[in-house]
Amino acid sequence: MSDHDLLIGGERVAGGGSPLAVENPFTTETIAEVPSATAEQLDAAVAAAREAFSGWSVTPAGERCEMLHEVARRLREEQEALARTMTLEGGKPLVENRDEIDWCAACFDYYAEIGRDSAGRVIPPIESSQVALVVKEPMGVVGCIVPWNYPLLLLIWKVAPALAAGNTVVCKPSEITPLSTLQLAGCLDHLPAGVVNLVTGAGEVGAAISEHDGIDCVAFTGSVATGKRVASACASRLARVNLEMGGKDPFIVCADMAGAESLEIAARGGAWAAFLNAGQVCTSSERFYVMEDVYDDYVSTFVAHTESLVLGDPLEVGTDVGPMVSAPQRQKVVDQVEAAVGAGAEILVGGGDGGQATGHFFAPAVVTGAPAETDLLREETFGPVAPIVPVKSLDEAIALANGTKFGLGANVYTGDLKSAVRCMRELRAGTVWINDPLTDNDAGPFGGFKQSGIGRELGREGLEAFQETKHVHMETEIERKEWWYPYSEYGPTQTGE
Ligand code: NAD
Repeated sequence: MSDHDLLIGGERVAGGGSPLAVENPFTTETIAEVPSATAEQLDAAVAAAREAFSGWSVTPAGERCEMLHEVARRLREEQEALARTMTLEGGKPLVENRDEIDWCAACFDYYAEIGRDSAGRVIPPIESSQVALVVKEPMGVVGCIVPWNYPLLLLIWKVAPALAAGNTVVCKPSEITPLSTLQLAGCLDHLPAGVVNLVTGAGEVGAAISEHDGIDCVAFTGSVATGKRVASACASRLARVNLEMGGKDPFIVCADMAGAESLEIAARGGAWAAFLNAGQVCTSSERFYVMEDVYDDYVSTFVAHTESLVLGDPLEVGTDVGPMVSAPQRQKVVDQVEAAVGAGAEILVGGGDGGQATGHFFAPAVVTGAPAETDLLREETFGPVAPIVPVKSLDEAIALANGTKFGLGANVYTGDLKSAVRCMRELRAGTVWINDPLTDNDAGPFGGFKQSGIGRELGREGLEAFQETKHVHMETEIERKEWWYPYSEYGPTQTGE
C-alpha cells in the first residue's frame, strides 16, 4: 500500500491513470507523483458509494454521530502530520494549516450533533384524523470537488454534512494538493466501506464526476468558470448542485475609525484579510474603500504594517506569508497588477519576489490609484494585493462594494451603529463581517450571492444542501372522500358555493 493510493470501497488501490506531479511551492521541487484515477476506478468508487448508501442511510443517527465524532478525534490526533503535508504541497504557513485541521475537526463535531437533532418537522394536517410530516432524507451519492487553497477544510465542509445527513461521498481533491486528502484515509477507516471514497485527478475526473449518472448531487468549490461547467453538466441530467465560487470582497473603512488605535486595528485587520494564505482565500479582501477623512492615515498605517510582515519558509515558526501555490497562479497576479500600473496605479509596497531565493513568492502589495475599470478592482486576484480606494461617503462605498458580479463576503470597520446596520442590510454578499474580518462559524451558513455561488455550506443550511424533502400525508381513517367521483354527488363545486 502506498500513501498515494486511492480509497475505493474501503480498499486502498493504486491509481491507474496518468501521474500528477505535486510541487512544493517553496522549494519548487517535485515531492510526489500521484497517479490519477481511471474512468473504471471512478465508476468503481461511485458503485461502492451506492452500495454503501443502502446501509449508511438507515444507520441510526446516534451511531452515525459517534462515528463522525471519531473522525474529529482522529483529525486532532493527526493534526501535525496533516498540517505539514498541506504546507509542503500548498505553501500555506504551518500555523494556518494547524488552524485548518482544528476547524475540520470542529466541523465534524458540529455535524455529528446536528445530524441527529432533527429529521424534518411535523406540520398541521388538513383533518384531525391525519398526520402530516416534512421528512428530510439523504440524496444518495454526493460528488465533492474542491480546490487547493484549503484542501481539507473545503472538503470537510461537504463531507461532514453529507455523511451526517446519511449520504455517501466520492471526493476529488485538486490535482495541485492531492496528498493531504489521501492522507485522510486513516481518519476514515472506522467508517463502513464505501461511505467515503477518495479519487485523484485533474479537470477530466472532475468533469466525469459532474456527468456521472450514479452521482445524485455535486458539491463544488472552485473558480466561477469551472463552476459554470459543473452547473451545466448537472443541469443536463438535473442532478442537485451546490456551488461555492470566487469572490472580489470589499473592505469598507468608515470615517469614525479616525482614532490612531482604531485605525491601526482596521489596517492590521485589513492586511490579514488581504494577505492570509498569500491572498489565496475565496473571501480575501481585494478592494478597500476608505472614507476620505481617514484615507491618508489608513494607507500609511497599512503600508507600515505590510512592511513588517515576514516572508519565508512556510514550515518555519514566525513566517507570516509563504509562497503562492504555483508559478501560473503567481503570474496571473503579476499580470493583473502590471495592467493596473499601466493604467495609472501605484505600488506603494511589495509586488516583487520579496528577496526570496526560491519559491513562488509575491511580496504583499498595497496599491493605490487603480482606475475603477481595471481588472484589479473588478476580477478576482487571488493573490496578496490590497488596492485601496478613497470614497466620499458610505453611499459611495456601498455602491462600489455592490458593483461587481461577485457577492461572497464583505467587511466593514465602524463603531457607528447606523453605518453598521446599513452595511448589514445593503451589502449584497453571503457573509458580512463587521469589525472582525473573515471569521467563520460552523453554525453560520457560508456561500455567495450572484456569481459567487448557489447554495450554502455550514449551518443547518449546509445539512439541508444534502437532503431531499419529502411531504408525508397520512390518514388514519380509511374512508371514501366526498370529493371523489362521481361529481354529481359532490355538492359545493357543482353549485359554485
Ligand atoms: P478550479 O476551478 O480551477 O478547480 C477546482 C476543482 O475543480 C479542482 O479539483 C479541479 O480539478 C476541478 N475541475 C477542473 N475542471 C473541472 C471540470 N470541467 N469539471 C469539474 N471539475 C473540474 O479552482 P482552483 O484554481 O483550484 O481554486 C481557486 C478558485 O476557487 C478561486 O476562484 C476561489 O475563489 C475559489 N474558491 C472558492 C471558495 C468558496 O467557498 N466560495 C473557497 C475556496 C476557493
